[in-house]
Amino acid sequence: MTETATRPRTEAKKPRAAKPNGQWKVDGTAPLNSNEVWKQEDGGLSVRERIESIYSKGGFDSIDPTDLHGRFRWWGLYTQRKPGIDGGKTATLEPHELEDRYFMLRVRIDGGALTTEQLRVIGGISRDFARGTADITDRQNIQLHWVEIENVPEIWHRLESVGLRTTEACGDVPRVILGSPVAGIAADELLDPTPQIREIADRYIGDESFANLPRKYKTAITGHPSQDVVHEINDFALIGVVHPELGAGYDLWVGGGLSTSAHLAVRLGAFVEPSRAAEVWVGVTSIFRDYGYRRLRNRARLKYLVADWGAEKFRHILETEYLETPLPDGPAAEKPTAPGDHVGVHAQKDGRFYIGATPTVGRVSGEVLLKLADLIEAHGSARLRTTPHQKIVVLDVEQDRVDSLVAGLEELGLYANPSPWRRSTIACTGIEFCKLAIVDTKDTATAAVAELEKRFAPESGAGTANALLRPLTLHVNGCPNSCARIQTADIGLKGQLLPDGDGGQTPGFQVHLGGGLASDSREEAGTGRTVRGLKVTVEDLPDYVERVTRRFLADRAGED
Ligand code: SF4
Repeated sequence: MTETATRPRTEAKKPRAAKPNGQWKVDGTAPLNSNEVWKQEDGGLSVRERIESIYSKGGFDSIDPTDLHGRFRWWGLYTQRKPGIDGGKTATLEPHELEDRYFMLRVRIDGGALTTEQLRVIGGISRDFARGTADITDRQNIQLHWVEIENVPEIWHRLESVGLRTTEACGDVPRVILGSPVAGIAADELLDPTPQIREIADRYIGDESFANLPRKYKTAITGHPSQDVVHEINDFALIGVVHPELGAGYDLWVGGGLSTSAHLAVRLGAFVEPSRAAEVWVGVTSIFRDYGYRRLRNRARLKYLVADWGAEKFRHILETEYLETPLPDGPAAEKPTAPGDHVGVHAQKDGRFYIGATPTVGRVSGEVLLKLADLIEAHGSARLRTTPHQKIVVLDVEQDRVDSLVAGLEELGLYANPSPWRRSTIACTGIEFCKLAIVDTKDTATAAVAELEKRFAPESGAGTANALLRPLTLHVNGCPNSCARIQTADIGLKGQLLPDGDGGQTPGFQVHLGGGLASDSREEAGTGRTVRGLKVTVEDLPDYVERVTRRFLADRAGED
């Protein structure tokens, strides 16, 4: 009898040791994938020096590929898609065949806070270096396209001369900090988060300690009762609450994120006094850096660690390993009673007014930004904010200037009294510039909005329908990713090609229904569901949305 034959069966079935997850504090820092290798060898922030001294002088062909496809993101730069390549080729072509020699450049605007001087600088850069393009994103950034590497140092010079930057606008880093667009001015604000946003941005953006995280890391902070920063889908969020003994502060949430696997953030039940907000941010971000999963990039977001640990263990590790003292328990925020997009005219605490206006699907232009700066100043203001709903909010308007400003905004395509469709439709970049896209988004969504406005126009007899309508959210994405938050919309659309009935393919969408966040005035935030087999072509999109809306209205009428 051989030795093997005498071995007990249980020994033969001994389970294999679990693969390391690449958690630095558990498994050590040896890199387990190629991204982790180059991030450790030479971090993303270092590429700026090469852009300024080598690549901007040598041109596109002088760029090292690892810098181009990796480190450039740490400075807000992505190559954009070559024009004219249809969506069918997105999956079949090599990445370099899809890639153009031009860049998208993301300008980070922490808290969405802009002055007219800064707005004018972005508008000027758009006009001079980005063929007039400008999109307001759903993370309060402004993105430009058609940027050439030769012009990047001058663009940085102009931005930084007015206190703006592209530092860590993309990459495995703390991205732009979402902040309440009405911070410090709204009459009904619980507390002003501006000092906390500024402290975190000023101290830790560009800090090497947090420049190599497992993946992107998203922060959101608000003191407004509308919970206007989509906190449920951020890695770290602070929501304004009033503690019965300690006064105004924040309720702490962690681990939200969408992409192809949606997780809503979880409350830790901990109260954060404003003076401790930066310390707690450092603690949670350090947990992500030290314990986050670095083996597989599609399991690396903080949401997976939070899902595995649960809220209790996460809070315990935070308090025992990262904070000076534990956090007190705190109350949950009240449910919002008003939408968090701030569209319309609202009172400030100082007696003046703020005006929220929507472009169509976030698209503006350098020219519009320049004219907007003039318009705002002509009405006695010098401040505005971008919002996480692809809107702008003009601050500090005297009552007697409100109507004139609203009219001027409308002339620029910025609507303070939009139809429900224009108000609640957002779209990602799509096939125009995105290398992952399968279908067009911005033009498709814009055409659908115009058509739906016609179909629900008051003269069509559907005017009462508009009055009944809580704006139904329509989020249009160019691929199965979720840059425009498919899972948080009433109707979320994921771009894909559909059979055209003649043996070919036509652009369309897989439909996802029933998602929503607290700031959309929902009873409960939820990620809805993809309805298997429910797909709609670009051409049929208005018909489909009209059908869903009429059914929704009929149900509502039944309830009343
Ligand atoms: Fe690109 Fe897809 Fe994101 Fe749209 S959802 S911007 S198509 S990756």
